[in-house]
Amino acid sequence: MVRENEIRENEVSITPPEANDAGLTFIGRISTPWVSRLGCPRQGRHDGPICQIEIFAPWVEALKGVERFERLEILYWLDRSRRDLVLQSPANNGETHGTFALRSPVRPNPIGTSIVQLEAVEGNVLLVRGLDCLDGTPLIDLKPDRTLFKPIAPPQPGDFETGDNGT
Ligand code: SAM
Repeated sequence: MVRENEIRENEVSITPPEANDAGLTFIGRISTPWVSRLGCPRQGRHDGPICQIEIFAPWVEALKGVERFERLEILYWLDRSRRDLVLQSPANNGETHGTFALRSPVRPNPIGTSIVQLEAVEGNVLLVRGLDCLDGTPLIDLKPDRTLFKPIAPPQPGDFETGDNGT
């Protein structure tokens, strides 16, 4: 599985259904020190090395205000992953876990997410700590860490709904 795209004992692969084009567009590129999955962190750490997130035109203007947030949520496309495993054996010991019970990069739509520490904004480049992806990983999106973000738009009825009416 993850290490070199091999299949391990008891892992189960399927033939994926034909892809539907969701119209994703990569908005940037992530530069990290890691060129091999064998050396990449399994999860980023906020005292890890500084990585660069380059935002492509025409999206650079969309960075306005981002510097106000100490932490950002980054979504990226784990482009070198296989996508066909439903059961995986992370420990390579014959014991398997469902793909959706793992944070493995091997998934039908290989989206990775990390909360990163924002160190600096230099034009169209963000300097961050806390990533765990290979050098050259495509960027899908970035947004403020939800714990730091207060909606700017006025509240609407659904914001006050609870499940207390039995639904
Ligand atoms: N933090 C993200 C998450 O939880 O969604 C990703 C976690 S995933 C376990 C991180 C691992 O994905 C790395 O250790 C590396 O083995 C693998 N990886 C990183 N970048 C990748 C890429 N571009 N393509 C395929 N695999 C990648």
